[in-house]
Amino acid sequence: MVHLRLNETEVNPNPHVNFITALPSIPEIQEESRQLLRALAAQVKPIMKSHGFVVNSLEEYEYNQVFAGRNWNHGETVELVLRRPGGEFYPTSWLMSTLCHELAHIKHMNHGPGFQALWKLLRLEVRQLQERGYYGDGEGNSLGGAEDEGKGKGKRAASNRAREERALAAERRVQALLGGKEASYYILPSTFIELHSAQQQAPGRSKKRHLRKMMVQRIPKMA
Ligand SMILES: [Zn+2]
Repeated sequence: MVHLRLNETEVNPNPHVNFITALPSIPEIQEESRQLLRALAAQVKPIMKSHGFVVNSLEEYEYNQVFAGRNWNHGETVELVLRRPGGEFYPTSWLMSTLCHELAHIKHMNHGPGFQALWKLLRLEVRQLQERGYYGDGEGNSLGGAEDEGKGKGKRAASNRAREERALAAERRVQALLGGKEASYYILPSTFIELHSAQQQAPGRSKKRHLRKMMVQRIPKMA
């Protein structure tokens, strides 16, 4: 692979993130994921610095019907689901929002008002960086941003916000059901739609299945 470079020769896109790991796959796919993680990390470098955030390990996680991101032990490990079931990446704006969500969990491992204010602030700070033309520095680390520009931007932003709010509301309900766990989850809003038609149950205890059922029942109008 000519385009693959040895890790040792690469500039760290974000010194506040120690390890960046994509899921094992064929080399091209894995490298694509790894570069996206590096770009996401590069984008939040100034923000992590100013907030004093440290992530030991930023990792890609496989698609699942439960969460879009997780934060273990205040940033020890942050997992992000990068790809849809078919393999294509989620929009960078969505991934960025999820990353901000998980970064906010470094400080607040719940979803209280403090968490929500911080999540909102982090997203605002990302937007401000992008408006100033900062998409991460260093070759190959840029998030680009062109994908989210253009007409309908305002409308899309509003719809993204609405989606995030729905996701947060859904997650709050799940958190209440779980009664507090080590990890903080960012639940995909589409999860609930998919669960309606999901025939197979994930391996696990009956309690989990019961929870899934409750999640479906509690959000009948989500579309
Ligand atoms: Zn969360």
